[in-house]
Amino acid sequence: MSKPDIKDLALQALAETVAGLGEKPYAAIQTISWLYRQRAASFEEMTNLAQKVRQRLAQTFSIGRLTLEEERRSADGSRKFLFKLNDGQKIESVLMPHKNRLTLCVSSQVGCAMGCKFCRTASMGLVRHLTQGEILEQVLAAQRALEPGQKITNIVFMGMGEPLHNYDNVISSLKILRHPKGFGFGKKQITVSTSGLAKAIEKFGEDADVKLALSLNAASDPFRDEIMPVNKRYPLERLGRACRHYNDLTRQAITMEYVMFAGLNDRPEDVKQLCRFLSNLKAKINLIPYNEYPGSPYRRPTEAAVRRFHKSLADRHFQVNIRYSKGLDILGACGQLATGPV
Ligand code: SF4
Repeated sequence: MSKPDIKDLALQALAETVAGLGEKPYAAIQTISWLYRQRAASFEEMTNLAQKVRQRLAQTFSIGRLTLEEERRSADGSRKFLFKLNDGQKIESVLMPHKNRLTLCVSSQVGCAMGCKFCRTASMGLVRHLTQGEILEQVLAAQRALEPGQKITNIVFMGMGEPLHNYDNVISSLKILRHPKGFGFGKKQITVSTSGLAKAIEKFGEDADVKLALSLNAASDPFRDEIMPVNKRYPLERLGRACRHYNDLTRQAITMEYVMFAGLNDRPEDVKQLCRFLSNLKAKINLIPYNEYPGSPYRRPTEAAVRRFHKSLADRHFQVNIRYSKGLDILGACGQLATGPV
């Protein structure tokens, strides 16, 4: 039987394991540093740990690796990685350069249970949650594929899956991504995006210290019900309360992602509904023109419609940007990740 992956141990569990081997607490910090900073491929490399500790760790654990099965490069510089997991399942991560930033979009599940109508991942259904180790390994594997001198500056949980549905593993991964001896990312360098699991949003404010994005996409219940089934469980009024709670608790704004569909949510009445939903929230708005894919059920709005919508919000003093997705030509853009045939 294969040994468990040490990267699946949350910080506390790792500390307890190392203490159980008779080591001082600092050895757990050293182990984290070896795993995530020095990216050690074997316990033997961890030379500042006692020989007997290295041996015991090697007897008990493996250091898991994702297999890079395929890579596609976009004309805009984005790179999409297809990784194979130990059980043969596959996930995707996308590396996106922008000015002096290099952002990695990671997956949190194989497939997704949320069923958003505009999303390719939804068509897979939920296969399973990713473990902590599988989430973190996406960052390490992407780092291994970088050109010399390149460095990942930002992480977004916007790949396959609903991160807050895989709550515990995402939270424990965030702790290692943020830990100064782990990956050491700052709180503004990580964004977790949710489809609107209201209860989890409220808890997230207590458990994580990173940025939150909400994939809102509609500000009326009938249309949101249609494109995002999660809205039937947590309608806009309930979702708004959760966002307010998050704002109050963290004093952080939420980034509202608003994918624009031609003729469906890009009209003047949609601006009004959106303004009403945001009226008592601290939020920034990202407008994302829909990315069509083969067989997609919706259409991308015209550039003029996007600009009009943007202006209406800006005129009402909202902080609003238009985001053009990266990696369109490799199906690496928002809502386009899935590991089945195209
Ligand atoms: S948009 Fe996100 S939450 Fe919705 S189905 Fe796709 S991966 Fe899941």
